[in-house]
Amino acid sequence: MEQVKYKLGEKDLPKQWYNILADLPEPLPAPLHPATGKPIQPDDLKPLFPMALIEQEMSPQRYIDIPEEILEIYSLWRPTTLFRARRLEKALKTPAKIYYKYEGESPAGSHKPNTAVAQVYYNKKEGIERITTETGAGQWGSALSFAGALFGVKIKVYMVKISYEQKPYRRIMMQTWGAECVPSPSPDTKAGRAMLEKDPDCPGSLGLAISEAVEDAVSRDDTHYSLGSVLNHVLLHQTVIGLEAKKILEEIGDYPDIVIGCVGGGSNFAGLFLPFLKDKLDGKKPDLRIINVEPASCPTLTKGPYAYDFGDEAGLTPLLKMNTLGHGFIPPPVHAGGLRYHGMAPIISHLLNLGLVEAVAVHQLETFEAGVTFARNEGIISAPETDHAIRAVIDEAIKCREEGKEKTILFNLSGHGHFDMSAYQAYFEGKLQNYEYPEDKIQESLKELPKV
Ligand SMILES: *Cc1c(COP(=O)(O)O)cnc(C)c1O
Repeated sequence: MEQVKYKLGEKDLPKQWYNILADLPEPLPAPLHPATGKPIQPDDLKPLFPMALIEQEMSPQRYIDIPEEILEIYSLWRPTTLFRARRLEKALKTPAKIYYKYEGESPAGSHKPNTAVAQVYYNKKEGIERITTETGAGQWGSALSFAGALFGVKIKVYMVKISYEQKPYRRIMMQTWGAECVPSPSPDTKAGRAMLEKDPDCPGSLGLAISEAVEDAVSRDDTHYSLGSVLNHVLLHQTVIGLEAKKILEEIGDYPDIVIGCVGGGSNFAGLFLPFLKDKLDGKKPDLRIINVEPASCPTLTKGPYAYDFGDEAGLTPLLKMNTLGHGFIPPPVHAGGLRYHGMAPIISHLLNLGLVEAVAVHQLETFEAGVTFARNEGIISAPETDHAIRAVIDEAIKCREEGKEKTILFNLSGHGHFDMSAYQAYFEGKLQNYEYPEDKIQESLKELPKV
């Protein structure tokens, strides 16, 4: 029998996260204070984050210990399984080997609890009793709610209104884990009230929901804010994915030639590829290809310039140097809700700029087609976000067939799609369309970039 499932033992759980900041060939451009334009100091971030996370955000240390209490919670679902997609390989008649790490095994069904648990832990340790956040489709809100329940910390989630109305089940997961979830724009904050006055029917956006959550957090002493992607400490926590994958592949005696993942803010994919990127930088695997996959409707890496911009709509956050479509960018409704952010992790943007990683944009219809092909061969029904990665995997595997090359492809199956059946339904009913964000609208949104 051919083996398809590879799993490390619980004792092999990584005991440290890997910090790429220690190994970058050129340092990451500093985040800037929105008022002064000067580099951010740790104290500037204190109203939002606990000191431990601020230190991790800027740490030069290569490996950072994972506290025992976090490891205990990780062990509820980690190490996650590495699968060999042998049936998909056969269906595609490709000589390529395809492996995937399955992050849908977590209680919330995605990679997001890897950082949610860590973030709530450090907040709790510094005496914080309440955390605010935003969520698009509800994946991040539900992951943070799960972590809040385990540590007894109150969670308030500002959920993009259109998703709040269209996707009730993620909201009810949050409720089940004891969190409060309100539609954004909400009457609970100045930013929300201002938008409601301007447009009572505003469907909301991730950038606006961030403004609300940040405003709420800075207005109360017992409250901090938490972000589910983009920031360095979030990517750091996600490296457990890549560290596990590397270790198990070592045991099997294999190593990827191509690593692929979908990117919204960039955390799940960076979590997988950063430990492998270290080998590329060290000269152990110089020709490793790292492919970031994004939607053509929100083409941050492939069409957005590398520039300083705000992380939120109202301009409250520090300025981050990143690929951006402009903080006022309101993406068209695409079902992959988790991939609709205007910016990108500064680490990934920097790596793209240095030519160490690649990016491709794919269209919505072909992503669902790929997800359906995957489900009919491998069984797992993946999240629409993940279907972007699967599209690129299938394209690379077909290229291997055409060129007769036996490459090893590794991708991150960032989450299952069990709460996204309405998106699959819309696809089957022919109600979805491809949408390429028009160049002139991107240029218009970029006019609002802050002058630095
Ligand atoms: C949130 C989410 C993403 C996108 O976020 P990243 O920070 O880019 O990883 C991708 N896949 C799933 C399943 C998600 O929930």
